[in-house]
Amino acid sequence: MLSYSTAADAEAALGRAMTWAEAAWFRYSAAMPDYCLYCHNVAILLVVYTLAPLPLALLELRASSSLLHSKLQPSVRHAAAVFLRCYMDTARVLLLTVGILQLVSYPAVKAVGIRTGLPLPSAGETAAQLVVYLLVEDYLGYWIHRLLHTRWGYDNIHRVHHEFSAPMGYAAPYAHWAEVLILGVPAFAGPAIVPCHMTTFWLWFLLRHLEAIDIHSGFNFPLNPTKYIPLYGGAQHHDYHHFVGRQSHSNFSSVFTFCDYLYGTHKGYRYHKASLSKLKEMAGNNVEKAQDNGFNGGKQD
Ligand SMILES: [Zn+2]
Ligand SMILES: [Zn+2]
Repeated sequence: MLSYSTAADAEAALGRAMTWAEAAWFRYSAAMPDYCLYCHNVAILLVVYTLAPLPLALLELRASSSLLHSKLQPSVRHAAAVFLRCYMDTARVLLLTVGILQLVSYPAVKAVGIRTGLPLPSAGETAAQLVVYLLVEDYLGYWIHRLLHTRWGYDNIHRVHHEFSAPMGYAAPYAHWAEVLILGVPAFAGPAIVPCHMTTFWLWFLLRHLEAIDIHSGFNFPLNPTKYIPLYGGAQHHDYHHFVGRQSHSNFSSVFTFCDYLYGTHKGYRYHKASLSKLKEMAGNNVEKAQDNGFNGGKQD
């Protein structure tokens, strides 16, 4: 809730006129408790999780095989019942974990200094903070992911996420409830280190949900704009990790690939890609599309 009762008070405190974005924020948040603003994250999560993977699911369910040339594991087509079960199971886990966490974590959010007042952050400040959050989450997430691939971590927690050896957008947050909670730590670490405005906090959670859906999409779209982000792993990178499953010693990074290069966990993937290009070279253009995309099919773990 803002500490100004009128727009004139807000502008007097700022010492200048509000921008249109600040005026909109004032109108929206002036009378709303900070706790309600914080709880918007639950709505953002559910709306993004419900809507963003929908076009991918419809493409997989409705398109003819010839239109699925960008699919990374073309021999695997999930049925509508599989999409529905994944969605229902994931939504239940998200509501029980993220929803409850949201109710109890507000004091921590206030303690680290997530602010709701004016002025709003500039576009440059917002972008810089989001880049920091991505890097922090990627580094911590890499090591947590590696720990989840120890025998105990995999058998007791991470195997649920790997039930989909051919991922799809709706399977991005499909995981054991403990994994959902554990992965909340690297997500929150960035804003705890570099506190931001609540609007940046919302953007951060929106961005990481979209990124998770992108790398689990199961498609390698040639015009995907993320291909132009330096060191961005993308769907092909993470799809390989799911394809190999329990035995995977490669591709633990989720956003960028620098940790896999730094710690040598890119070698299996590189070898796999090199072998496939050699095979393609030897067979000319007669290699099947599945091999073109880097994977041979729907091995289930
Ligand atoms: Zn894994
Ligand atoms: Zn995954």
